[in-house]
Amino acid sequence: MKYKRVIVWFKNDLRLLDHAALFSACKESSEIIPVYCFDPRQFGEVELGIQKTGAFRAKFLIEAVDNLRSNLIGIGANLVIRIGKPEELIPELSVEFQAEAVFFSEEATYEEKAIEKNLENAIWKKGIETRTYWQSTLFHMEDLPFPVNQTPEVFTQFRKECEKFSIVRKTFKIPEKVNFPKTDLDLGNIPELSTLGLQEPVNSKKGVLPFSGGESAGMQRLQTYFWENDCLKTYKETRNGLLGPDYSSKFSAWLALGCLSPRYIYEEVQRYEKERKKNDSTYWLVFELIWRDYFRFISKKHGRKIFQLQGIKENVDNWRKDEKLFAEWTEGKTGIPFVDANMRELNATGFMSNRGRQNVASFLVNDLGIDWRWGAMYFESQLIDYDVCSNWGNWMYVAGVGNDPRGNRYFNILKQASNYDKKGDFVRYWIPELAKIPGFDIHQPNTLTKNELKAYSVHLGANYPHPIVAFSAKEKGVLVKN
Ligand SMILES: Cc1cc2nc3c(=O)[nH]c(=O)nc-3n(C[C@H](O)[C@H](O)[C@H](O)COP(=O)(O)OP(=O)(O)OC[C@H]3O[C@@H](n4cnc5c(N)ncnc54)[C@H](O)[C@@H]3O)c2cc1C
Repeated sequence: MKYKRVIVWFKNDLRLLDHAALFSACKESSEIIPVYCFDPRQFGEVELGIQKTGAFRAKFLIEAVDNLRSNLIGIGANLVIRIGKPEELIPELSVEFQAEAVFFSEEATYEEKAIEKNLENAIWKKGIETRTYWQSTLFHMEDLPFPVNQTPEVFTQFRKECEKFSIVRKTFKIPEKVNFPKTDLDLGNIPELSTLGLQEPVNSKKGVLPFSGGESAGMQRLQTYFWENDCLKTYKETRNGLLGPDYSSKFSAWLALGCLSPRYIYEEVQRYEKERKKNDSTYWLVFELIWRDYFRFISKKHGRKIFQLQGIKENVDNWRKDEKLFAEWTEGKTGIPFVDANMRELNATGFMSNRGRQNVASFLVNDLGIDWRWGAMYFESQLIDYDVCSNWGNWMYVAGVGNDPRGNRYFNILKQASNYDKKGDFVRYWIPELAKIPGFDIHQPNTLTKNELKAYSVHLGANYPHPIVAFSAKEKGVLVKN
C-alpha cells in the first residue's frame, strides 16, 4: 500500500458504484476516511433575495448524504460530516486525522474550481498530497477526441466525434470493504434543513415522483423505469410529456448529485438492448446523456463566461430587469396558462419537464425580455435536479447567447401548448381555478365570452390574471401591461 491513511472527499459524487476516487483509495491506502462538507455558501441568499439552494434540493441533498453514510456503514466504513468551507475544513481534518493524501472528484465550473485550487494550495503547504478524478460524465475527459479547450461549439459535431472516436469506460465496482480507522473520530451529524436556514418544503402529492435523495433511491428509479415498467423502449415517443412519472427517466436529480453514474446508466441501456429491445428510444436516452456531457465540457472550456450576460457567444442584447414582471413569472401569475402551470409545478415540487423548461425560459427571455440570468438563478434555487452546467448551458441556449447554430430559440407558447397539451389536462392539473374550461380553450381564457367565463367560474383579474402578453400567430408576444 502506498498510503497509511487517505481522505476521500465526497462532493457531487454521492455514490459507491463507479466511484473512481474511492475505488483507487481502496487499492492504495490501508485506511480510508470518507468526508462530506455542507458548504454554507450554498445556502445563502443571492440577488433578489432568492435562496441559492431551495428547500427541495437541500432536502434531497441531505437524504443523499444520509444514504451515502448508510451505504458506507454497510461496507465497514462511515462518513465524517462537517458544516463549513471545504477548502478550510479538509486541510484541518487531514492534519487531525493524519491523512497522507486527499482524493476527490474534479469539477468543471468556476466557483468549484476555485475551491479546489484553494484546497490544494492549503493542503500542499502541509505536505499532504491531493489527487483528482474526472468522473461526472459519460465520456471521460481524457478520452475526448479533442483537447477539452477545443470542444466543438456545436452539439452535433461534439456528439458525432465522441460517438465515432471515443469510448465509454467501464464502471468501477462498489468496494467490498472500506477500511475505516478503528480510533474514535468525531463523525459529525447530518444537519437538519433548519440548520441550513431552510424550512421543510410542503410535500405536494401532485409531483411527478416522490423524489428521494441517495444512490439507493436512484438505483431503484432506474430499476423501475427500465426494468419493472419497461419504459425505455418508448422513451423517444414519450419524452416530451408533462404528466406522470414515466414519460421520461427522471434520473436528473440523482445524476446532478452523482448518486447515479452516467456510465452505469449506459451499461444498463446496453443490457436492456441485449435482453429486451434495441431501438431509437434506447439510443435516445444515451443521446440525452451526451447533451449533458456537452454542457459540462463547454462549461469547462469557457469558464466564467457561462454566467455572464453576453454568454459564450458574446451577444449583447437589451435585457430588462423588471422585478414585477419577473415576480409574475416566478409565481406562475402571467395569465398565460401553459407558462403558469409549469411554474406552479416547479414551485410546488422542485421539478419541471424539459418541455416546460424550454417554454418558460423562452417566455421569460423572448416574450418578457428579462435578463436570462435571473431565470437561471431562479431555476438554480428551485430545481431539485439543479446542475450548474446543464442549467446555465441550457439557459444560454434559450437566450441565444450559447452556440446554437439555429440561433435564437423562440417558443410560440400557444403552438407548443397545442402540440403538447392539446386537451389542456396539464393546465387543468396545475391551475384548478381554470379546470372547468373544456379542451384547448383552457390555454386562452381571455378569448372566451363573459358568459362562458362566468359559466366556468373564471373571473379574469380576480381568480386568474389577465395575460401580461398578447400573442399574434406570427410574432413574438407583446407586453400588454407594465
Ligand atoms: C432552461 C433549462 C434549464 C435546465 N436545467 C437543468 C438542470 O439544472 N439540471 C439538469 O439536469 N437538467 C437541466 N435541464 C435539462 C433537462 O430539462 C433535464 O435534464 C430533464 O428535464 C430532466 O428530466 P429527466 O431526467 O426525466 O430527463 P430525460 O429526458 O429522461 O433525460 C435523461 C437524462 O439526460 C440528461 N438531459 C436530458 N436533456 C438534457 C438537456 N437538455 N441538457 C442537459 N442534459 C439533459 C439529463 O441528465 C437527464 O436526466 C434544463 C433544461 C432547460 C431548457
